[in-house]
Amino acid sequence: MRRLSSSVCSPSSHRLNPVTSMATGSNSLIWFRKGLRVHDNPALEHASKASSGSMYPVFVIDPRYMEPDPSAFSPGSSRAGVNRIRFLLESLKDLDSGLKKLGSRLLVLRGEPGEVLVRCLREWKVKRLCFEYDTDPYYQALDFKVKEYASSVGVEVFSPVSHTLFNPTDIIQKNGGKAPLSYQSFLKIAGEPSCAESELVMSYSSLPPVGDVGSIGVSEVPKLEELGYREDEQDEWTPFRGGESEALKRLNNSISDKAWVANFEKPKGDPSAFLKPATTVLSPYLKDVKKHTSPPVSLLGQLLWREFFYTTAFGTRNFDKMKGNPICKQIPWKEDHDMLAAWRDGKTGYPWIDAIMVQLLKWGWMHHLTRHSVACFLTRGDLFIHWEQGRDVFERLLIDSDWAINNGNWMWLSCSSFFYQALPTPYVSIVSLLMLHILRRCFSGGGFQYNRIYSPVSFGKKYDPEGKYIRHFLPVLKDMPKQYIYEPWTAPLSVQTKAKCIVGKDYPKPMVMHDAASKECKRKMGEAYALNKKMNGNIGDDDLKDLRRKLETDEESNIRNQRPKLN
Ligand code: FAD
Ligand code: MG
Repeated sequence: MRRLSSSVCSPSSHRLNPVTSMATGSNSLIWFRKGLRVHDNPALEHASKASSGSMYPVFVIDPRYMEPDPSAFSPGSSRAGVNRIRFLLESLKDLDSGLKKLGSRLLVLRGEPGEVLVRCLREWKVKRLCFEYDTDPYYQALDFKVKEYASSVGVEVFSPVSHTLFNPTDIIQKNGGKAPLSYQSFLKIAGEPSCAESELVMSYSSLPPVGDVGSIGVSEVPKLEELGYREDEQDEWTPFRGGESEALKRLNNSISDKAWVANFEKPKGDPSAFLKPATTVLSPYLKDVKKHTSPPVSLLGQLLWREFFYTTAFGTRNFDKMKGNPICKQIPWKEDHDMLAAWRDGKTGYPWIDAIMVQLLKWGWMHHLTRHSVACFLTRGDLFIHWEQGRDVFERLLIDSDWAINNGNWMWLSCSSFFYQALPTPYVSIVSLLMLHILRRCFSGGGFQYNRIYSPVSFGKKYDPEGKYIRHFLPVLKDMPKQYIYEPWTAPLSVQTKAKCIVGKDYPKPMVMHDAASKECKRKMGEAYALNKKMNGNIGDDDLKDLRRKLETDEESNIRNQRPKLN
């Protein structure tokens, strides 16, 4: 698949080529961030071609993401769980060995990336700085500073769009300055990605040599321990290894299995399949690799969802917040730390939900539909807790953690945005529509989308009636008979005893009763939607506070009325 040609120039590179060059020397620096790959990497290609001197391949370990945080709820830094950190180190190691095969190597530095980069540019007499363009707000701010410095000293900057197939800036421009808000309108504007052979260099015979690093402290790719973590910090680690080689292997395996590819239908996959996942598990590697073959439409359709969320995220103010986000419904979510912690730690008392959360903790990856289940449960389905809090947990633990995709999907699943947009019809086959129809039978309610709630009991049962997935991730339930595995609290005490799992002691009681909780949630969503409509989206803090107070009072009196009268 080929990137649009316009995407190869940086959206802002035009003003970063001062005529009077102050930088001396002919060295180039390739700054690796997300695209941790040698093949199909336009920034690397440019750095290597342009350099008649040395080329410095750099990765900066950013303490913001990597510093151990002992107070975090699981091993890792405050922003990244230890699975994510290890996956990154494996990816760096693989990148380093790829570079070494070509006579180069990866230089690893530590510190605030902006400051580190400025020091390198100065010390190494860099003439040309190359790095992949990044739309995430953190990188936008960082890159702005680095580019400012570079242009002030006459360093050329080359910052191509290569993380996505389309350039989000182009799409937004074509749409009159606004991000398209539906997948369908996105496709209309973007057009079909070209499937022609890429003109990019896919393999090198060698790369320019790395120059003298002078007084700058560089290291090899560190081991986990050198960053302050321990291998025994988790009893089970993610089975997915990081790195370009692994990603290419996975990609080739997926697309060489023609029958599997031909049958790929997203809503059809079994979310409870974990030994051989139903989807590609490419997401953790999409930081490293992009498709260059012509995939089947359905798989391509998945990749275009990624493009869609990247574009929308880039073009939307405060995309990662409810407040001040023009596409997000204002909903008076509840603050409840204990409930959040029970969900996060896999202690809700619903085995389907808890098994998924344990898979997240241990593996850092779960199937898309299981993500639906737990996101719905936390927000509009059962607990009515803010999607931003669930987003934070996913962001920290997922090895495919991605700012645009994660926020977009959380808004979607909490019915805060997007869902009311049209289905991606060109990419939905009759079979998928039938599947959607069947899926809907597992939802309760009709009408508004927020009325369709995933059942934490029947949804998983449909795919996995034996409860294999639950037994694997929640071994405490491994001997529970299958008729109780999704609702162990309904098992007679004799059965619980025999299964060596007493509910309330060995495994938690359900934290809410789904039927009542989901009914309450629907009522609250209904009132919040009505307010959003009435105020035309202009809802202030006080309006939201008033609604929260009203909903809580109503909830209390509902509970009072439901309580059986004592006589
Ligand atoms: P496949 O089905 O094989 O799809 C191939 C690729 O298409 C994926 O690797 C991914 O890049 C893309 N893709 C598939 N589904 C989506 C989607 N719904 N939105 C955007 N791109 C998609 N995905 C992430 O990569 N990072 C995240 O942080 C993330 N957070 C999510 C949070 C929630 C609440 C939900 C419901 C979904 C989230 N997803 C996220 C989307 C999706 O679940 C994963 O991309 C997918 O499960 C990854 O598995 P796969 O590679 O086997 O997917
Ligand atoms: Mg998937």
